Amino acid sequence: GKAGVTGEIEFRNVSFKYPDATDYILHNISFTARKGETVAFIGSTGSGKSTLLNLIPRFYDATEGEVLIDGIDVKKYSQEALRDKLGYVSQKAILFSGTVNSNVAYGREAMHSADEALKKAVEIAQGTEFVEKMEEQYEAKIAQGGTNLSGGQKQRLSIARAIYKNPEVYLFDDSFSALDYKTDRVLRSMLKKEIKDATTLIVAQRIGTIKDADRIVVLDDGKIVGMGTHQEL
Ligand code: ATP
Repeated sequence: GKAGVTGEIEFRNVSFKYPDATDYILHNISFTARKGETVAFIGSTGSGKSTLLNLIPRFYDATEGEVLIDGIDVKKYSQEALRDKLGYVSQKAILFSGTVNSNVAYGREAMHSADEALKKAVEIAQGTEFVEKMEEQYEAKIAQGGTNLSGGQKQRLSIARAIYKNPEVYLFDDSFSALDYKTDRVLRSMLKKEIKDATTLIVAQRIGTIKDADRIVVLDDGKIVGMGTHQEL
């Protein structure tokens, strides 16, 4: 992350139901992810992990309680300020018609292929090998939706996009699921080394993905039913 900035995430008694729904999906969720910490969220399908993460970029707003970044309610940030702080990687990689380059640099100034920061982001995301195998490398064409790439390749590029942005806070919503175990492990250890100042929230299915998290939050039916390290749980 950038020097001199923070990136603490706090949920304070957050409950949530989707607009027009009657049932609450999240019940009285409270936790803090301090600057530089990795906090992982596990729980069965439908327990509310993605929903919880989605409240941070304000895809939805908490029905009750507060979601805070550095002690300030997310509702108080401008869209732009919020977007700048967060590197969100969704469950399903979203790629656009363009090049490797334009997809990784998305939302920033288009960079030329020799951009070292962009190459570094692709490297951390374990994408260098497949990108440099393509004839046009960083200028290789990506079809709308990334239909000319495998699921794992798409995930690597969307992870690279978040890394290239250099945010204060990473939000990974099950973003490693299409990677094989070895790639998953190498990617996360490189990421940890490179982004140690950034706060990282990870929704994961595999235990391996979250074993080294500073804290694991276990969700069941929208409630926190456990919190601790892998050792403690
Ligand atoms: P998974 O591991 O399968 O991704 P999850 O723990 O991330 O599951 P969520 O995707 O947050 O769970 O879903 C929690 C609950 O919210 C589910 O019952 C789901 O049906 C419901 N839900 C999710 N998205 C919406 C939506 N847009 N509108 C209404 N209900 C929704």
